[in-house]
Amino acid sequence: MAIEGHNALNNIEIIMKVLKFGGTSVGSVESLQNVKSIVESQAEPTIVVVSALGGVTNQLIEMTRMALDHNEAYASTLEQVRQRHLDIIERLIDADKQSQCRAVVEQFIENLRSFYQTLCINSDLDATFVKRVSDAIVCHGEIMSSAIVAALIAGATPHYSPSFIKTTDGPQGTVLAADLTRRLIQEQLGSLDERCMVLQGFIAQDADASYATTLGRGGSDFTAALVAAALHASCLEIWTDVDGFMTADPRTHPDATVIPTMTYAQAQAMCDAGAKVIYPPTLAPVAALDIPVWVKNTFNPTATGTVIRG
Ligand code: ADP
Ligand code: ASP
Ligand code: MG
Repeated sequence: MAIEGHNALNNIEIIMKVLKFGGTSVGSVESLQNVKSIVESQAEPTIVVVSALGGVTNQLIEMTRMALDHNEAYASTLEQVRQRHLDIIERLIDADKQSQCRAVVEQFIENLRSFYQTLCINSDLDATFVKRVSDAIVCHGEIMSSAIVAALIAGATPHYSPSFIKTTDGPQGTVLAADLTRRLIQEQLGSLDERCMVLQGFIAQDADASYATTLGRGGSDFTAALVAAALHASCLEIWTDVDGFMTADPRTHPDATVIPTMTYAQAQAMCDAGAKVIYPPTLAPVAALDIPVWVKNTFNPTATGTVIRG
């Protein structure tokens, strides 16, 4: 039975942690090999939250634009997306799981094809319908990447985030249904005795009407924080492509250095000022429970990284 902050595994109270891997971390064969070894070497049970393969969310959005412009060139981008996923499956997934994993990806590519066809061949579509279809499309990036990561990690089981990450539509747009989400995470994941659960970041579902929604661009960090907070995880690890939270964006400031320790307030201030390394809404749910957040580099896993705490 799950008890506050702990998951029961074989009748032993074991603390669980949440690891989130961003787009670059799941974007290539080499980085996915690192993801596999990072997760499989964890001593305690883990919940792994994944983004879409790096660049795929942008491609899905771009294809939506093309289809709405009645530009059939979306089909060649879709074929690139398909080939990229299938290539990773062929190179990384064990032979006994390959055909099932390939079939899953092919099915989602077919779903995408029919969504894009609908947008491409019809004119004067209702704006709400276009918004719903666009959101359903963009969710496919995380759905496909999570199928691959779940097949890649030994003993991992896939879970579907929209069954517990719920949103509502208010005057300001889509907002998280926070209490419902926390309760559903606890009900659906809190009592499972699983060594490693893999779920999609970013994607969600409307609490009343069940249509696809998202937590906003970069929202996978937020999904991971919501799960970590609801289950009182021992820590949240944000695995990305830099050695930690840095004094500035290293892409524009090559002299930036890693900040070893930060308070939630310091990190929040930098995120609010545009430090893309953590999506701004992420810190509040974990800070409220004093759950430490680590920022670590998938491409340099032995680097200490940054710890953010109270
Ligand atoms: P992910 O796909 O893993 O979510 P993001 O691209 O969202 O990764 O965030 C990581 C990027 O954030 C880094 O590659 C870096 O360019 C950028 N970044 C901006 N500000 C900072 C900062 N202060 N410290 C570290 N990285 C930063
Ligand atoms: N894939 C989504 C995006 O590119 C969410 C994320 O990566 O956090 O915005
Ligand atoms: Mg990010």
